[in-house]
Amino acid sequence: MSNEEYNPYQELLKTINEAGQQLGLTRDDYKILEKPDRELKVSIPIEKDDGSVEVFDGYRVQHCNSRGPYKGGVRYHPKVDIDEIRALAGWMTLKCSLVDIPYGGAKGGIQCDPGQLSKSELKKITRRYTTMIEPIIGIDKDIPAPDVNTNAQIMSWIYDTYSMIKGHNIPGIVTGKPRIIEGCLAREGATGRGVMITVENLFQKLDKDLEDIKIAVQGFGNVGQVAAKLLEEKGCRIVAVSDVSCGLYNEDGLDINELIEFVGSDRNYLKEFVNNNGTKKITNGELLRLDIDVLIPAALENQITAEVALDIKTDFIVEAANGPTTREADSILAERDITIMPDILANAGGVIVSYFEWVQNKEASRWEDDETNKKLRNLLTKAFKQVWETYEEQQVSLRMAAYMVALNRIIETKKIRGIFP
Ligand code: NAD
Repeated sequence: MSNEEYNPYQELLKTINEAGQQLGLTRDDYKILEKPDRELKVSIPIEKDDGSVEVFDGYRVQHCNSRGPYKGGVRYHPKVDIDEIRALAGWMTLKCSLVDIPYGGAKGGIQCDPGQLSKSELKKITRRYTTMIEPIIGIDKDIPAPDVNTNAQIMSWIYDTYSMIKGHNIPGIVTGKPRIIEGCLAREGATGRGVMITVENLFQKLDKDLEDIKIAVQGFGNVGQVAAKLLEEKGCRIVAVSDVSCGLYNEDGLDINELIEFVGSDRNYLKEFVNNNGTKKITNGELLRLDIDVLIPAALENQITAEVALDIKTDFIVEAANGPTTREADSILAERDITIMPDILANAGGVIVSYFEWVQNKEASRWEDDETNKKLRNLLTKAFKQVWETYEEQQVSLRMAAYMVALNRIIETKKIRGIFP
């Protein structure tokens, strides 16, 4: 399938349909999930630093809220479009259900290249976007969070703009804020920590040792960096990491702290990194095909295509990114006996800690980081066990098992509530 043909939302619908059939549901039971509840498209004009005017396209898609307020991140990327945001919103509905937190699913995005924008331009875009989506978001309606190319600073601007409009501070309108303005310190690293916990749960289940296993991480941003660092701390050997510019490979293991420091808050590209201790540059395509134990895609969707799947030489794939593996690739990998920990479980750490941040904001309380991380591990491990049980009982893939657990819970909620009117 070429990039032009790839439609993440259609892929998601096919997987939901398959899970529905496995559960013995009729299409009427889950038809309601085929179309998002609400979609908002906004135009975001800003006056740039050079005085010119540029108008950006922005979106907020609210997929389903039968289990709680809509919840999902905001992505800034040149390739953002409505189908990507729809898919990401749908995955959020399933993810929140799978880990059993009281949220539905949403996602937002702005089609822009943050690398080409100054801080002041980014601030203007964020404030204008927040103003445009303000009618449909709210602490009990829809709560944004960070995603690709958005961070704690951008969440602070969303919080501030929304509070200015409403006339009083409403920290719970957004999660992933800095600690100083009622964020949860553990949130920034939560998705990566969840990925580490998922790898641990998997290896423990299979009675395998994590010590010195070889891992490659595609995507060295918020999620990839933390996952690599925490797994390195567990004794794993991170032999390769990459960003959009290139990959770095070292058979003896890379020094992850050194690389995190190099990338820094300025987001320096890995292609500029110089190190003569046997570290060499590789392409992203090469990284995906390395002979390793665990591959962690932590960049974007549609990375492990059928073509890549045929060449992959890892035993396990742990999906830190949303939707990195196409359905076609999924079948090939299943035939090749390569185990995949699906995105809706492996990267759920972020939304779990977002939920904790929101709870703290609602009750004006502050938890210790240790407490947050312990609760995160408990929720993720509970979901892991449910997925594993379904996987064994139903003889389906781990992805199908995760979808079945998630879908079942959503459908039960929908049945109890009924369809209005
Ligand atoms: P980020 O912007 O912090 O980092 C993305 C990284 O991927 C960067 O290193 C970038 O250079 C790299 N990248 C981009 N395009 C690439 C390509 N074509 N090939 C290789 N590398 C590429 O984003 P993030 O927040 O770390 O998110 C990464 C993934 O994790 C996304 O799929 C996102 O939806 C998912 N996710 C993020 C969170 C979160 O809390 N941030 C939560 C759940 C899931």
